[in-house]
Amino acid sequence: MLLTIATTHQPATDLGYLLRKNPARLQSFRLSFGTAWVFYPEATDEQCEMALQVEVDPVGLVRNRRGPQGEARTLDQYVNDRPYAASSFLSVAIADVFGTALSGVCKERPGLEDLPLPFEVTVAALPCRGGEELLRRMFEPLGYAVETEPLPLDSRFSEWGVSRYFRVKLSAKIPLQRLLSHLYVLVPVLDNDKHYWVGEDEVSKLLRHGEGWLATHPERELVARRYLKHQRRLVEDAMSQLVVETGVDPDEEQQRQDAEEMALESCVSAAGTAVAIGTPEADARVEEETGGSLNEQRMGTVLAVLKSTRASRVLDLGCGEGRLLRALLKESQFSEIVGVDVSHRALEVARDRIRYDRMSEIQRARVKILQGSLMYRDQRISSYEAAAVVEVIEHLDAPRLAAFERVVFGCAKPDHVVVTTPNREYNVKWESLPGGQFRHRDHRFEWTRAEFRTWAERVASGFGYRVRYLPVGPEDATVGPPTQLALFERNSP
Ligand code: SAH
Repeated sequence: MLLTIATTHQPATDLGYLLRKNPARLQSFRLSFGTAWVFYPEATDEQCEMALQVEVDPVGLVRNRRGPQGEARTLDQYVNDRPYAASSFLSVAIADVFGTALSGVCKERPGLEDLPLPFEVTVAALPCRGGEELLRRMFEPLGYAVETEPLPLDSRFSEWGVSRYFRVKLSAKIPLQRLLSHLYVLVPVLDNDKHYWVGEDEVSKLLRHGEGWLATHPERELVARRYLKHQRRLVEDAMSQLVVETGVDPDEEQQRQDAEEMALESCVSAAGTAVAIGTPEADARVEEETGGSLNEQRMGTVLAVLKSTRASRVLDLGCGEGRLLRALLKESQFSEIVGVDVSHRALEVARDRIRYDRMSEIQRARVKILQGSLMYRDQRISSYEAAAVVEVIEHLDAPRLAAFERVVFGCAKPDHVVVTTPNREYNVKWESLPGGQFRHRDHRFEWTRAEFRTWAERVASGFGYRVRYLPVGPEDATVGPPTQLALFERNSP
């Protein structure tokens, strides 16, 4: 089976950085069910095209019982469409070969992964159970222009008519990570089959890869049903978690995406300044100017505040690379410590940082690291005594912030919640930060003290909490501290 992804973004060869696959080389990857090859039929500054070819070994499938279901030793097990048609095998190949890009990371060109770029995708043979109409219903709401060409059952016998396979071309201007997650989820959905057993973790996989688009997709229920192989309990579970975000009006969401896209475009055209902000070097400069690490001061304050709540079971929501987790582990007051983040890569770093693999049994029993999104209701984080949300909210745009509020304050409902976020007023103190710029490229906003308080008061009164504020870092008489902190305390029922 063959998938190609092409772009005319300039320089087009940035595609190689985004996918982390060198355009100059032919590379092969061993998969549990066959082999994948990555090569670039074209790689110039103007146009770059990557091809992923996946070869499925049908005999190996039978041996490993991964083939289509059917009676043992029937012909169908050996002769089937799996080697040619795009299916869940393609999703696995995408995750294995382009795992980093799928998780939205691009080390060599930070920021590029979030930029909507012009992409053209072709899938040589996409099985569509439900026909062309369903194919369009899946991709068009996501902003793709869809071109299809039905493939004949047999090119030698035109009277046999067309098959359920299509040659498909999709064009859109979106971030690569989005594009890959759309394919990852929707290809097996269109095929209406999966080559592996679908269990509980398939729900979280669907929510993770569907983040930011599935909850507002008009066909979300059909997607969930097919993705979860029609297992009623799993589908209900997924739909109940998707509900939180559907509070977002799809039209509003579309407008927001358009606005974001325009903002990003102007950010690229002003690339000179924009690039300086998002980079680790700029970050380090900002840190340097605070005289010591603001990060450490922040962790110290958050830790002190958590200790003062007398909580022993605590959450670190958006724990990132685990700095706070490590500090929490050193305090015997905390008997159960749970880190949650949407980013796999960050959690891997966190696991290393706290030396999870080398912990004693007793230590290990105190800590849990969960991959999950704060956009969705999640039983695993409900009824804890305290939660820390350190430098996370400024990464969420308005509809996501609203979903976050409902998930954390409305559903998980810890007794105490500590939230920190930058104080924008303080930015003038940093010479390396041009006026009006944010501290990180990914920040959707940075609030003044008044703005933060307005938000916090609204959340507190809406969800039954009281709130107090603390400065973090060196406080300036006029512009305040670099970081602001709110401590929410739940009113007793
Ligand atoms: N609290 C950490 C990391 C802050 S960076 C620290 O202070 O070091 C923001 C983190 O929020 C990132 O790790 C990012 O992956 C995470 N994040 C962003 N959106 C999220 C979401 N919807 N659900 C869970 N985590 C999210």
